[in-house]
Parts: sequence; C-alpha cells; structure tokens
Amino acid sequence: MDFSLGDIVQMKKSHPCGSNEWKVLRTGMDFRMQCQGCNHQVMLPRKKFEKSVKKIIQKGSIEEQSNLYDEL
Ligand SMILES: [Zn+2]
Repeated sequence: MDFSLGDIVQMKKSHPCGSNEWKVLRTGMDFRMQCQGCNHQVMLPRKKFEKSVKKIIQKGSIEEQSNLYDEL
C-alpha cells in the first residue's frame, strides 16, 4: 500500500475512544497519525503502521502539494 499525507486510514484495532479511523500526518521511516475520534496523536514505525492498517478510507493530497512546492 502507498500512503501519503492526509490519508484517512482504517486500522484493524480500534482506539480506546472507539474510533478506528486515523489521519496520516507524517510519512517516512516513522509514521505520525491522528485519531479521528479524539485527536490523539501517535508515532509508530512504518512496518508496524503497515501491519496495523486495514484499508485507506480516503486519499489525502497534501504530499502531492508539497512535491509541487519542491519543484518550484
Ligand atoms: Zn481516539
């Protein structure tokens, strides 16, 4: 799976707050994501993140925008 900033992903396990939807805030070696239920943020290694994700609910577009800025 290919992840980009702003993606909304569904995790296999739900957060204690009851939500299992997270927004990707940072990609790379480590991923930072934000719970869409309680806004709690966590960082976890890419491998662990990929294992925990069930599916991408909504694709984000922040990464494409930042790539555009890099070219300018
Ligand atoms: Zn939560």
